[in-house]
Amino acid sequence: MIRPLPSGATIGILGGGQLGRMLALAAARLGFQTHIFAPEESPPAAAVAAQLTQAAYDDIPAIQRFARAVDVITYEFENIPTAALEAIEDICPIHPGRAALAVSQDRLTEKDFLTGLGLITAPYAAVRTGDELDAALETIGTPAILKSRRFGYDGKGQVRLDNADQAASALDQFAGQDAILEGFVDFSQEISVIAARAMDSAIVCFDPGENHHKDGILATTTVPAKLSMALSTDAVILAGHILNALNYVGVMGIELFVTPQGLLVNEIAPRVHNSGHWTQNGCVIDQFEQHIRAIAGWPLGDGSRHSNVVMENLIGDALSTAAELACDPAVAVHLYGKGVCRAGRKMGHINRITGAAG
Ligand code: AMP
Repeated sequence: MIRPLPSGATIGILGGGQLGRMLALAAARLGFQTHIFAPEESPPAAAVAAQLTQAAYDDIPAIQRFARAVDVITYEFENIPTAALEAIEDICPIHPGRAALAVSQDRLTEKDFLTGLGLITAPYAAVRTGDELDAALETIGTPAILKSRRFGYDGKGQVRLDNADQAASALDQFAGQDAILEGFVDFSQEISVIAARAMDSAIVCFDPGENHHKDGILATTTVPAKLSMALSTDAVILAGHILNALNYVGVMGIELFVTPQGLLVNEIAPRVHNSGHWTQNGCVIDQFEQHIRAIAGWPLGDGSRHSNVVMENLIGDALSTAAELACDPAVAVHLYGKGVCRAGRKMGHINRITGAAG
C-alpha cells in the first residue's frame, strides 16, 4: 500500500542549485520540510530550505547522516557518484530510482536503453581509441558529434566533426575519456516533454514545448510547440513508454528532435528540467510540485495547460533586466538568489504569458 508522506515530513534533496530551490519551494507549499545536501557553502536551494548539510557527495559518513535525517531522498542533478547512492539506498528511499540514474549518467547506456525500447535516436557508436573513431566515422559519416559519455551538460564535452580529417584533434580533446560518436541530426525543431509518473504508476505529461538554445544553453521554451497533433501524441506516448520501462517515480525531462522521419530522442534527464519552467505559470500544478507529489506518494496534479507561455532564461548580465521585465503584467519573474553573476550562469528566468490556451 502506498502511504502518502504526511505534512511535516522531510524531503532530502541532493544538489543545491536552482532546481533544488524550486523543488524546496514546491515542497513547502505542501507542508514538507526540505534538507539540502550540497558541497557549496550557501547554495541557492539552502536559502529556502529548513536545513543544509554542506559536504562532498563522496563524503560517505555525511551522506549517511543526511539519509537518516530525512524521509525520502530526491535529486536535482543526475551525476551523483554511484558510491554515494550505494551508501544510502538501504537507509532511505530514493526517487527516481537507480535504474533511471544509471541510464542517464552514461550516454551510451542511455542510447542502448532507448533503442532497446524501439525508440529512435541519432546513429551512434562507442569510441575510445583512434581506430574506433575511424571505424565509427566510416559507418556514421559526417557531420557528426563526438560527446563524452559521462558528465556532459549544456553542450559541454562535445566536438563537432565536419570531416574525417578532424578525428585526431577531436579525440585529443577527450584525453582518454570514453566517448560516443553521434550522427548529426538534421532536425526542424527541438522539443521536450516533461512527464511524471506516480507510485501507483499513473502518468501525467505536460504539453511539449519548443526549445531554442544559444551558445549551447537553453534560451527559450515556447508552449505550445508548433507540432502536428500526431507528433504531439507520439511525444507523449513515447514519454510514457520510457517512464514505465524504468518503473519511474518522479518528473523526467525528455528532449526530442523533430525530423521528417518522426521524433528522435536526444536525451533524458531524471529530474525536473529547465524546459519545464513554463509550467509554473502555464499550469495549475507545475513540474516542481508534480515531482514532490510523485516522490511523496501523493496523487499527481492535472498536467493541462491554462495559458500559452514563453519561458526565457536570464543568463549572466540579463539578470539586470529583471526589474524592468517585471513592469510587464504578462511576465512572471523567477530569480534564483545566486550571489555571483557570471557570463553563462543561469540567474533566473521569466515566464511570459502569451494568451489563454486554445
Ligand atoms: P546535448 O547535451 O546532447 O543535449 O546537446 C546539446 C545540444 O546540441 C542539443 O540541444 C542540440 O541542439 C545539439 N545536438 C546534440 N546532439 C545532436 C545531434 N546528434 N545532432 C544535431 N544536434 C545535436
